[in-house]
Amino acid sequence: MINPPLKILQQFWNHKNFRPLQEDIISAVLDREDTFALLPTGGGKSICFQVPALLNKGICIVISPLVALMQDQVKNLQQKNIKAIALPSGIKYSELDTLLDNCIYGNYKFLYLSPERLQQDIVQERLKKMDINLIAVDEAHCISQWGNDFRPSYKKIEILRRIHPSVPMIALTASATTDVVNDIIKELDLFQPKVFKQSFFRANLGYRVEDVIDKNYRLTQILHTHSGSSIVYVRNRKSAVELSDFLNASGYVTTYYHGGVDRQEKTKRFNKWLNEEIRVMVATNAFGMGIDKPNVRTVIHYTIPESIESYFQEAGRAGRDGVLSLAFLLKNKNDNQRLHNQFIKVLPNTDTVKLVYRKLCNYFRISYGEGEQTVHDFGFNMFCKTYNLNTLTTYNVLQFLDRCGVIRFIQLFTKKSSIHMLSTGSHVLDFLENNPKNQTIIKAILRTYGGIFDDEVIINIPLIASKIGKSEKEIVTTLNKLQEANLLEFKYSISDAEVIFLVPREDDHTINRIKHHLVKQNTAKIKKVDAILQYTENNTVCKSTQLLLYFGEQDTKDCGICSFCINKDKTTKHIDPQKIQEDIIRLLKVKNLTSRDLLMQLSYPEKLTLKVLQEMNERQIIKINHDNNYQLV
Ligand SMILES: [Zn+2]
Repeated sequence: MINPPLKILQQFWNHKNFRPLQEDIISAVLDREDTFALLPTGGGKSICFQVPALLNKGICIVISPLVALMQDQVKNLQQKNIKAIALPSGIKYSELDTLLDNCIYGNYKFLYLSPERLQQDIVQERLKKMDINLIAVDEAHCISQWGNDFRPSYKKIEILRRIHPSVPMIALTASATTDVVNDIIKELDLFQPKVFKQSFFRANLGYRVEDVIDKNYRLTQILHTHSGSSIVYVRNRKSAVELSDFLNASGYVTTYYHGGVDRQEKTKRFNKWLNEEIRVMVATNAFGMGIDKPNVRTVIHYTIPESIESYFQEAGRAGRDGVLSLAFLLKNKNDNQRLHNQFIKVLPNTDTVKLVYRKLCNYFRISYGEGEQTVHDFGFNMFCKTYNLNTLTTYNVLQFLDRCGVIRFIQLFTKKSSIHMLSTGSHVLDFLENNPKNQTIIKAILRTYGGIFDDEVIINIPLIASKIGKSEKEIVTTLNKLQEANLLEFKYSISDAEVIFLVPREDDHTINRIKHHLVKQNTAKIKKVDAILQYTENNTVCKSTQLLLYFGEQDTKDCGICSFCINKDKTTKHIDPQKIQEDIIRLLKVKNLTSRDLLMQLSYPEKLTLKVLQEMNERQIIKINHDNNYQLV
């Protein structure tokens, strides 16, 4: 007879077997032990609490930090005909009341809660009446100040312990250093927990950190040499669009993905990538959740990410199927400064947080002592412009206020401006002929959005503006003009986010209560940036070993496939510059070539090849002609 957990797995998940550690974790939970599970992304964390919860009567409470994560999991459970529910922010008291009643009387198996919801009296009262079989704390690293995504409200989860002292608790995370693990156990007050840690070692993943002069060129070279599905991570939306354009022009089938792409379009692009119609996804870190494509062969970081945690998670999307895959990190001398500007310089101080919070309250005309649980449409860019605030810093402030439970800051991708073409392409071209001033804007829109003549299309005005260096106002003016000429219908919406106030406005008092978190969070952030910089610069230890050490794993062995390990082998295999020279001459006898063509056709290290070329040029064996090609003298 098969054991009950396996039966549940086969029945609802259609998986034949458990993955490593899952079964041990589940049996610890079924023994009513407090449990700590550290499984890398893709290790099947949720099964560890969902399977035992289904085996017992009663309901499982799941604490999760992100609305999107909750909704994703609830949807997955519902598709399996399992009754699950999430309590989103900003719903009316009466709705909340009904939903909670369902949990008590409606045979629900899973209730997903944010830690903020947990603080509400009505929620606590109802929780007391529920027959709870398990408390699962997902993304448990959020409880630690040293974690990547610290949320002070996670510290209040222990209230569940007080309401239901005998219910077992399981804490789950995909990313935690030793400090963070100890913090989690302490803060959640886990009783003699059974700790399960899966090693983060990835035998089939080669971490390659490379110093390159021309990143675009190196990128095409990597994609040329290593076939198969790929993700290129870039630092912002603008780079995603630009780099995708560049790669498309270079003959690679790519698209881009970032937070500003509307939901439907995201799904479309994601599916095309999944089905191999698109080979390369150029993305910001918004491309993350739920990616379980097994055969990603390369993940390329075009810039240094903000922390080892993010890097490890993103790079780890390569080679899920166990086949040899590579994670490249391309860097050059500008990266350190950029990292500093993007992540350190924009860390807000207490005064900035106070200022932005006050402006935010003013913006929505919230009076002192009021505003709790009110929902507001929010145009982020407009807000920054109104008060002349730096966008990156302001964004960080809003995120901080969100984490601390002062507001909920939800970025929306549905309420966007849209255009609907009412005429054919030739009419538009006629119009442009007579209004040449509007050409840049219209052409940028036509180039950015395909299928624009077929359907109503959501457009991202800030994105277009940044792409062509015009102001948003200029774009709106132009589109209004085209609307007046009956060429298109233009719907303009300035809100791209929603703000929900969770506590009454008390100006500086509100911020004083949370300011100690800010200092700690900023310190943690700086430490993280230092750690990733050190990782990129340390060329004396195996890259895999460096990562594992960061996550507290000792006694590791060299991986044999990272940039350190392969170069260690290379130094023993001497490359003869004479041989390179001969190969260059051989190629140039057939045809004049640029240095790029030569690099592409020869598989020697870039630096060495360029050095040989330079010497040959100096010795007048070759010269550069007016087309920038090398030719034999
Ligand atoms: Zn190695």
